[in-house]
Amino acid sequence: MTRGEYGLLIDYQYCSGCHACEVACKKEHEMPKGDFGIKVLKDGPRQSSDGVWEFDYIPVPTHLCDLCAARVDMGKLPTCVHHCQAGVMVYGTIEELAAKAKAAAKDKMVIFAK
Ligand code: SF4
Ligand code: SF4
Repeated sequence: MTRGEYGLLIDYQYCSGCHACEVACKKEHEMPKGDFGIKVLKDGPRQSSDGVWEFDYIPVPTHLCDLCAARVDMGKLPTCVHHCQAGVMVYGTIEELAAKAKAAAKDKMVIFAK
């Protein structure tokens, strides 16, 4: 895998904050306490100056994320993608993910490239 060729498209509008991705990632990689391949952060509740309330859970891959290279080599999806019941994350090439993001053209959607 060439660095920067693949990544995750993260549509956190529908993230419920269940932490299943965190747990699955830690288990898959047998990470010690304190290490995470992905962390689910919480933003809010807070009110913007335009009166809109924001309250989001945002899954953020860390430097320890290897995009589940061993699983992907076996033809499987990254385990965070597989275990997210809300379908928040999509794995693919950056080109594929950028095309999906462009088609969606929405807030609360980011691409993690590795
Ligand atoms: S990304 Fe999916 S698995 Fe992770 S906390 Fe959000 S809803 Fe749960
Ligand atoms: S792609 Fe794999 S290593 Fe990266 S956050 Fe998801 S489960 Fe962890």
